[in-house]
Amino acid sequence: MARVTIASGLIERLEEHARLWLPKEGCGLLLGNLRGPVTEVVDIAFSGNVTAQDPRKTFEIDPSLIIRLQKEARAGGLQIVGVWHSHPSGVAEPSETDKARSEVAGWVWIITGIQADICTTNAFLVSENDPHSFLPLSDI
Ligand SMILES: [Zn+2]
Repeated sequence: MARVTIASGLIERLEEHARLWLPKEGCGLLLGNLRGPVTEVVDIAFSGNVTAQDPRKTFEIDPSLIIRLQKEARAGGLQIVGVWHSHPSGVAEPSETDKARSEVAGWVWIITGIQADICTTNAFLVSENDPHSFLPLSDI
């Protein structure tokens, strides 16, 4: 059974960053370790939101950040284990766009929603069989 652990304090950092990015969506890549069925999320590499579309409604991770993190992972650093982004004035659930664009099976998606200045953060594990299927993780 797949399991995900999230380092203490990480959610608070994500929520702080989500507020800094208002009214745009904030984003970044989740870094950690894959240990058999357990994905350990230990850190976040925040990215600029480089979308060519409306950054209040969608996000795009900076490609140069992805390349740098892939190199660091190959050199023995933390692995890229998922993605975080925020939903300004939205709920902490994957949108239809999020589900459609999800490509990597087994990735962790963490989403911070902000409504009436209150942040809510939820984590999801992308199905190993279907990259468009998100399984909610309740134990964060
Ligand atoms: Zn989204």
